[in-house]
Amino acid sequence: MATDCLFCKIIAGEIPSKKAAETENVLAFHDITPQAPTHVLVIHKQHTASLSDTTDEALLGQWMAGVRDVARQLNLSDYRVIVNNGPQAGQSVFHLHAHILAGRPLAWPPG
Ligand code: AMP
Ligand code: ZN
Repeated sequence: MATDCLFCKIIAGEIPSKKAAETENVLAFHDITPQAPTHVLVIHKQHTASLSDTTDEALLGQWMAGVRDVARQLNLSDYRVIVNNGPQAGQSVFHLHAHILAGRPLAWPPG
């Protein structure tokens, strides 16, 4: 757990969240500002700041398998997975997370 990390506090239950699904390694909860009818964030329970920050390939594998498993648990077939890496790309919380968006047509290219 990283002190002063919002998502570590959500994992610890110190900040409330609306849980969507959970596996051994990941937690999924609903985004507080949803951008689609389904908008969940999938985080590994172990803190890492960003995709480019981690060299832990086991963690990355567990996390992405977790994204797949969460989508399955939510009965999603068509969905988009987004990872913002760095402030210029829109990352605002520095605990690695994947956005799963679903429930509406998703335009391409994204903004
Ligand atoms: P990013 O901008 O890619 O770092 O994504 C961070 C996401 O976290 C944003 O979509 C926010 O809406 C979301 N968020 C921030 N605080 C909370 C919170 N307390 N509970 C759920 N989602 C949050
Ligand atoms: Zn964290």
